[in-house]
Amino acid sequence: MKKKKVIYKEKEYIVSCPGRIEYSRTNLVSPRSKYFQILDQLDDCKELSTSQRKQYLFNKYGLTEFEYYIIVVFEGDESKIPICSYKNPYTGEKCNQPRVFRSLVPIKNGKWMNYFMDGCKDHLANAATQVAQRENYKRGVTGLQKANRRSKEWRKKLSINAKKQIADGNSIFSPDDVRKPWIPKAETNIEKLKQTTRDSYDKAAIDIGLPVDKTFSVDELIAIDRKMFLNKGDLFDICEYYLVELENSNAFKLGVSRNTSNRIDLRGYHGYSYGKSTVLAKSTREKIAELEYSVKMEFKEFIVIGNEGFLIEKKEEILSFIQEQLKLLSI
Ligand SMILES: [Zn+2]
Repeated sequence: MKKKKVIYKEKEYIVSCPGRIEYSRTNLVSPRSKYFQILDQLDDCKELSTSQRKQYLFNKYGLTEFEYYIIVVFEGDESKIPICSYKNPYTGEKCNQPRVFRSLVPIKNGKWMNYFMDGCKDHLANAATQVAQRENYKRGVTGLQKANRRSKEWRKKLSINAKKQIADGNSIFSPDDVRKPWIPKAETNIEKLKQTTRDSYDKAAIDIGLPVDKTFSVDELIAIDRKMFLNKGDLFDICEYYLVELENSNAFKLGVSRNTSNRIDLRGYHGYSYGKSTVLAKSTREKIAELEYSVKMEFKEFIVIGNEGFLIEKKEEILSFIQEQLKLLSI
């Protein structure tokens, strides 16, 4: 067994098999195997109880499991701690802080995991979102496909969002004592509202000749969105096409609305808070629907959050496309 002397914080350790975490191999056959032992590499690879490891390391060496990892794997060199994967979507700057250590146990819920989280303490959630988005780009999945409203995942997200809004007092269904003063009280009940939303979605699909029980393609989802917006009112209603920044994300939202100021002050979008907003165009519902449709069709691969959140790197390109469309549609 290879051994090496490591100095960390002025203490000396003799590390067995430096450079990696060792487990008792006999039992570590698959992620499903719950029964494997972490070996104490500071004490001749003695088996130690996985569930008691934190206590054990602290009592025996005064070390956290992160410090133990630094000694064993990085041989005491903290500069080897991986760096946060978060990239500021506005400046493109990478974060240089160390990632948060996850655990010495490489398996969670039956899956192999990294020892480190994707981000530093400031960017845990953002980095994880960015990693998930990069994975989706690789697989060619856009936000719209993830947003297929028939999927379980989508319905779950909606319900989490709705519950949060209710709890934060931002919903017409919030209890009287938490509901923000500018938000009106619900005049209907939740079930009725849900049914209405579902009905209008199905109606839009049927209106454009799609069977309601299939899984829609991205193009079909975009067409349904247009029809839903058209169905919401009169073709000659004055509506707005607006852009709104999404705080701490790599996306911005392009939306359509009858009343932008109302719509964007109160609610966030998929868990992101709204930043600065700009009305890009004001015209009849019919023309705004057409404008939104053409932008979504042209840039559908860059819809990364929900069905209206576009990748920030494409912003300039999308804005100049919108300028052209405004001329074409005589808006
Ligand atoms: Zn960071």
